[in-house]
Amino acid sequence: MDVQSTDSVCKQLKTFTENGWPSNRRNVPEHLLPFWPERTDIHLAEGLLLKGKRILIPACMQTEMLDRLHEGHQGVTKCVARAQESLWWPGTTRQIKDMVERCEICCQFSQTKTELLMSTPLPPRPWQKVAADIFQWKNSHYIVVVDYFSRYIEVANLPPLTTATTVKRLKVIFARFGVPECLVTGNGPQFASSDFSLFAQDYGFQHATSSPRYPQSNGEAERAVRTVKQLLSK
Ligand SMILES: [Zn+2]
Repeated sequence: MDVQSTDSVCKQLKTFTENGWPSNRRNVPEHLLPFWPERTDIHLAEGLLLKGKRILIPACMQTEMLDRLHEGHQGVTKCVARAQESLWWPGTTRQIKDMVERCEICCQFSQTKTELLMSTPLPPRPWQKVAADIFQWKNSHYIVVVDYFSRYIEVANLPPLTTATTVKRLKVIFARFGVPECLVTGNGPQFASSDFSLFAQDYGFQHATSSPRYPQSNGEAERAVRTVKQLLSK
C-alpha cells in the first residue's frame, strides 16, 4: 500500500494519528473532516493507516477497489461484508450501494429474474405442472418431485444414480398421483439422456429443462430440495 505514502490526505492523517488530532473539530482542515468521526479508530500499524482492521484506501484507488469488491457481481450485502473485512474510506457503504444499483450486468440479471417469476403463473389445477430434481444427502442421492400448484413434495432415494432408476422412481410417483402435463427438471445427465426423452414420449408429458443460463427457472424444485434437506437434518 505504497500509495498511502504519496497521497496527501493519507500523509496528513498519519501526522494526526502520530501526534494527536486537534481537540476541536474547527481546527481540522476541511478535506480531513470526513475522517473526524472515525479518528479514534484510525491507527498506524507498521506504517500503514488502518481503521480498525481495515486498510484505509486513498482516493486514487477507490474506484479500482469498488470494482474488486463487486467481483462476481455479488449483491450489496456481500460487497459491504467484503469491505468490512478488508478496506475502508469515508462513505464506503454508500458508494458500494450506488455502484451495485448502477451496475448494468446486475440490473440486467434482476430484470431477467423478475421476468421469469412473472412468466411462471400458477397452473390451474394440481399435478398439471411438476418439477423434479436430484440432490445429494449424506452420500445418498434422492429425487424430489414438487407440484407447482400445491407445493406438495414427494421424495424417493436413488441407489444407483442413473436414468433407469430416475425413470423408475418417477413412474412410481406418477402411478400414485397421475402423469403431469409438464415436468420441469434440472440439467443433470439423468434427465438429459435419450432414455429420458423416450420416457416422456411414452407417458405423454412435456419435458422442460431449466436452461443453464437461468438456473433459477427450476426454482420450484430447488426450493423443495431445501425444504427436504431441512426436514432430513431434524
Ligand atoms: Zn454487478
